[in-house]
Amino acid sequence: MPAHRSRPVRAITTAVGLVLVTAVVAGCTGGDDGGGGTTATGTAPPAGPSSSATSSAAPTDDPTDDPPEETVAPEPSETPAPGFDKTAMSIDDPASLWVVSDKLRPLQPSDYAPSDLVTIAVPSQNPPVFRAEAGQALLDLVAAGEAAGAGQFQVQSAYRSYATQVSVYGGWVQRLGQAQADIQSARPGYSEHQTGLVADISPIPLSCALQACFGDTPQGRWLAENAWRYGWLLRYPADKTAVTGFTYEPWHFRYVGVPLATEMHETGVTTLEEFFGLPAAPTYAG
Ligand SMILES: [Zn+2]
Repeated sequence: MPAHRSRPVRAITTAVGLVLVTAVVAGCTGGDDGGGGTTATGTAPPAGPSSSATSSAAPTDDPTDDPPEETVAPEPSETPAPGFDKTAMSIDDPASLWVVSDKLRPLQPSDYAPSDLVTIAVPSQNPPVFRAEAGQALLDLVAAGEAAGAGQFQVQSAYRSYATQVSVYGGWVQRLGQAQADIQSARPGYSEHQTGLVADISPIPLSCALQACFGDTPQGRWLAENAWRYGWLLRYPADKTAVTGFTYEPWHFRYVGVPLATEMHETGVTTLEEFFGLPAAPTYAG
């Protein structure tokens, strides 16, 4: 009887092995026709008489029917690594840590306000208000950066209400006109700051505040490399203006939680639009 049980186990192992091989091949051959097919055939029976695989398998099974069946069934290693579930949280709900807000995706409702806002004890230019989880994550981020010797950090701007964004954006329009204002600032209802999940970060002493040169400061460099570990994403990378609709903002960090930030870091995808397969949002729809 044990001999009978050992065969299915081996069959499962082989099947899993084949599945994994096929998956890897499928993952790296985007447009190559037949690549997967050739490898699959090559993996199945080794070259030589086709019957040798089956005939040699049977004898090797028989000698192993002595050991008790407990030793035959070590299964933990066979459980496949769970893939990242991109649908685990909403990208539409403004209260979701994964909400994607850009020039084609206004917050809905446009005057959304989070229900769990807190003020955190961190140096800042303006009252540092965040959603509770993001606030704690910001404290962790800043503490880690300082412990790593990157210098001191302060928050330039965090949560902004719909009403505040009306005046911020309105100010830019007055100074620059609407076309330039749309490059510098988000229209009310379109700002990530309204989610309570965003921090604009500056160094202490204050320099390069809200300027591209922040990316060259010790604080900016440390954040760009390490923010993901604490669940933060550099939301507007230098090479993704056409995707995000915003120029390089090395100071603007968006909290998305550690699992998503880690997945994006490990897969090398730097924008939420690309990660979730959303259209590029260079400009407003209307
Ligand atoms: Zn910002």
